[in-house]
Amino acid sequence: MSRICKKKPAVCTDEPLSNSGICQKIALMRNILSTAYGPTGRLKQIHNNVGGHVLTTSTSTALLKRVDMSEPLLKLISTSVQHHTARYSDCGLFMGIFMLRLIENTQKYNLRTVAAAKSYKRLVEECNMYLKGDSCGCKVTVDFSSCDSLVALAHSMITSKPACMLNSRETQHISSLIAQAFLYSIPLNSPGVSCFGSTVTIGIEGQSVSDSSVFPGLLVDVPEMLQPADLKRLGSGPFKVVLFNVSLSGDISEVGDVTLEIHTGVDPELDLLQQLLKLGEHVVKDKVNLFACQKVVHPVLQHYLREHGVVVIERLGLALMEPFIQITVPAEAYGLVRGFCFHSCGSRELLQLLPSKDSAISTVVLCHRNETMLEELKMTCQRAEHVLRLTLREPYALLGGGCTETLLATHITHMNQSTATTTAAALGVSHSEFLMAVEAFCSSLHAVALSLEHDGQDCLIDLTYAHRWVPDIYSQTSAKQTCGCGLVEDRSDLEKTPLNTACHTFSPVFLENTDNQPRILDSFSAKLNALNVAVEMAKFVLDVKYIVKDIN
Ligand SMILES: [Zn+2]
Repeated sequence: MSRICKKKPAVCTDEPLSNSGICQKIALMRNILSTAYGPTGRLKQIHNNVGGHVLTTSTSTALLKRVDMSEPLLKLISTSVQHHTARYSDCGLFMGIFMLRLIENTQKYNLRTVAAAKSYKRLVEECNMYLKGDSCGCKVTVDFSSCDSLVALAHSMITSKPACMLNSRETQHISSLIAQAFLYSIPLNSPGVSCFGSTVTIGIEGQSVSDSSVFPGLLVDVPEMLQPADLKRLGSGPFKVVLFNVSLSGDISEVGDVTLEIHTGVDPELDLLQQLLKLGEHVVKDKVNLFACQKVVHPVLQHYLREHGVVVIERLGLALMEPFIQITVPAEAYGLVRGFCFHSCGSRELLQLLPSKDSAISTVVLCHRNETMLEELKMTCQRAEHVLRLTLREPYALLGGGCTETLLATHITHMNQSTATTTAAALGVSHSEFLMAVEAFCSSLHAVALSLEHDGQDCLIDLTYAHRWVPDIYSQTSAKQTCGCGLVEDRSDLEKTPLNTACHTFSPVFLENTDNQPRILDSFSAKLNALNVAVEMAKFVLDVKYIVKDIN
């Protein structure tokens, strides 16, 4: 008989943000995220207690996915960041740091929740207007006629992930590969609605990063026993292809969980093999050159097909089915590919299937010295390519290196200085409350810019263009120092002050007629969304009055 346990009452936390334990956890989470931010961000290692896989990363996606939060409010924050990165691939750490700082600053200034919520809503609308407007000083247009801005965007994303462990030459190489893969994924000359192609990634461990490459079409492992001479015998393409997504192993156990009634004297395995061989005969009669299967192909059928000069590829896996279909041109019941090519990369022998049409499918072969670095590199490259795709929707990029944050904060502070009284009245909050909210908001933006520095150096802001600076005290070169994003060159009369210290408000000067190109760019769409969701979530968290937890 089962024992009956008395149901425990739910645990209720009143005013969670007044609870010092919860506030400490929020500060800890902010600290974890801000110490991982940017090119010199510190890596995080995640272990489990049963000696499983060790993850070394500084990306928010990998970090938050693997860390279970015990606190419901933190769980909520973590989920919102993960949702953002799933859609936009970038600015997850920015979103987390800004949101947590906004919550902490609201507490620090002792702002009424309702006043903070109304003011932040207003301020984020002003940010949106500024960032989307023509006079925005922190936005650059992505020029699709040259690869420079695409490569710069990819480059910034890779350099901000130090766990990829790349030197500057390798970073440059991988950035161009990403831009190349992105260009391959855009369909050419297709009438009507165009869809992006896809990029398949193959990771090869133990090889130098400089061996990484991108190929049009699809690369698969070279099937067993296929020799270059076999391909030569096939002559020139196009080649007829047949593709199966069901198992051709002839294994009766794969029929499923059903009861079979078998007549005496019948051998089902043999019967199945006969059927498979009939299929083989048909394929040979129809002059098929490539026989591909998602799952296993019976060895006897494989042997028969090879004997008749057909190339067999088995165990393709579900992920390759769609790209495989896309590289082929349909021809009656079959498909066509343009040709085959052998490539060897370290220990892997790969067979390239050349597409018969502008299929917009490419394969990126990524090589790295070990598994952990390769894993981070694969994830970063896939995200960077996604960010490049987002530029087709909104062809802009934001200045990186903390300059967008300092510029935006300066603009918002300056704009609201003269209008604070009327804005506060319109929002129904007091003048001082509104000014405090502006300060909390802008100092949270500054906090993100400050998080880029991990070596104890001062962060500065110049009082003309409002870009972010780090004094380059170690530089031995005579090259002129530039701001965080690389757009503004230093000069003796450019006045600077430490970030997050009181200074007079000013309107940032719009930088025109400069030959400099920003070196570091962030995704426009990703940052805009991160900014909006961060404010929305901060308002939500600040508004939580009770947490009721069922502990049964
Ligand atoms: Zn800058």
